[in-house]
Amino acid sequence: MGGEEKYEAVIGLEVHVQLKTQSKAFSGSRCGFGETPNTATDPVVMGLPGALPVINYEAIRQTIRAGLMFGCDISPVCRWDRKNYFYPDNPKNYQISQQGLPICVGGSVEIELPGPARNIMGSHRSVKLNRIHLEEDVGKLTHYGDYSLVDFNRAGMPLAEIVSEPDIFSPDEAAACLNAIRMSLESAGISNCDMEKGQMRCDVNVSLRPAGAKELGKRTELKNLNSISGVRNAISYEIQRQRQVLESGGMLSQETRRWDGTQGVSEGMRNKENAQDYCYFPEPDLMPVHIAPELVGELQKGLPEPPFVRQRRFMEQFDLPYTITSVICFDRTLSEFFETTLTFHHNPRGNANLIINDLLRERSQNLLPPGDMGIEPRDLAQLVKLSDEGQISKQAAQDVLVEVFRTHEDVDTVIGRLGCIQSQDPTELAAICREVIGKNPKAVGEFRSGKTAAINALKGQVMKASAGKANPVQVDATLRELLR
Ligand code: ADP
Ligand code: MG
Repeated sequence: MGGEEKYEAVIGLEVHVQLKTQSKAFSGSRCGFGETPNTATDPVVMGLPGALPVINYEAIRQTIRAGLMFGCDISPVCRWDRKNYFYPDNPKNYQISQQGLPICVGGSVEIELPGPARNIMGSHRSVKLNRIHLEEDVGKLTHYGDYSLVDFNRAGMPLAEIVSEPDIFSPDEAAACLNAIRMSLESAGISNCDMEKGQMRCDVNVSLRPAGAKELGKRTELKNLNSISGVRNAISYEIQRQRQVLESGGMLSQETRRWDGTQGVSEGMRNKENAQDYCYFPEPDLMPVHIAPELVGELQKGLPEPPFVRQRRFMEQFDLPYTITSVICFDRTLSEFFETTLTFHHNPRGNANLIINDLLRERSQNLLPPGDMGIEPRDLAQLVKLSDEGQISKQAAQDVLVEVFRTHEDVDTVIGRLGCIQSQDPTELAAICREVIGKNPKAVGEFRSGKTAAINALKGQVMKASAGKANPVQVDATLRELLR
């Protein structure tokens, strides 16, 4: 590599996310992930004669919320279209989608590109979106030797399809875009976006053009990628492949290719179909939907702060470093937990450190489900407060937290049981301090001549002599008193 790049890659993503609804997009059939195959269906899903679709209001609400998270315009009227094609995963032989009038138009996704080092904030920019529309998922085919099985449990599940503009220029940017979409939708409770469970799937469109050119090159489309690393690898491979074709004087054709993640190669599947191949036409069984501005306003009010906005606020308002906010801010429950702890004891760094070093470890070791923090915000704050006041040591705060996870007792009970409150008779403490002062003339001299940090050495000695029983705040005060 090296030298001037002759070509620039241009990438557009089509991201499908499963909406978290009870029932399917156009019928009352329940959404059954992981259930016995073909039990979560009904006549509408199966396309039986005479069965008619009914719009799931919740799926529309969630699609609007997704649009609002990304600053899309919400269409006052949206409409339904039939996308016709024959395939065994699709019993109706058409999919209800939105071609002409989608629910959300425009908008953008804020992405972060890796900084020069892991602990330094990367650069941010916006990737433009074209639209977000609502459609239904198809069934799942599993291929065996010379036969295939189909499960229609997934058929009819509501999918929001988020379509970007060709406004992404590297595999890293594509990965960052997927990450940002996932974080926003997850934090708003719109979708779990678990790629391993197929709740988020991505088609990537890749083309090359001469560096600096305005016009777009011929694109290929890679369908149904189900991991972020898969997306990254598929794009890198495709850029290389297209570059080789162009450099050897060949022609690219607009085609759909299959990405083989195990081999790390893409292979041609078919020439890309155009919209007319699907014979889109307005869905005759569903009326257009009018979306009232009042509804949009109400949904807007219920949205969480976008993850990067929250991160910037935490850095500014709480003077927290990038590294800490990167752990907390992209998890909404964790962010809210953190902010609640501050209402009980306002030491942002102290509370955050106990959360990211100790609480997160305990949560994962105890396999707590998402959303279960394992300790009350007030109790976590109480631990930091006691340790800030010198009533318990930092180590004790951590130990008590571990005990709380183990026994589910509250903090006060554990502290009482472990007896870790540091207390000592003031006269006894003064005696120890006097002794330490007598034995350390050098540190005492330094302190008196203005090197105030020298007191730390003395404090350490006192703590040791008291076998950790002394309260550090008390020790500090007593030493200063005696040294005056
Ligand atoms: P279709 O629905 O037929 O796949 P669209 O025109 O809606 O086609 O585009 C789908 C995706 O392809 C969008 O994300 C868009 O940004 C992207 N795209 C379109 N043209 C190009 C191109 N020349 N290079 C890269 N991506 C492209
Ligand atoms: Mg497409």
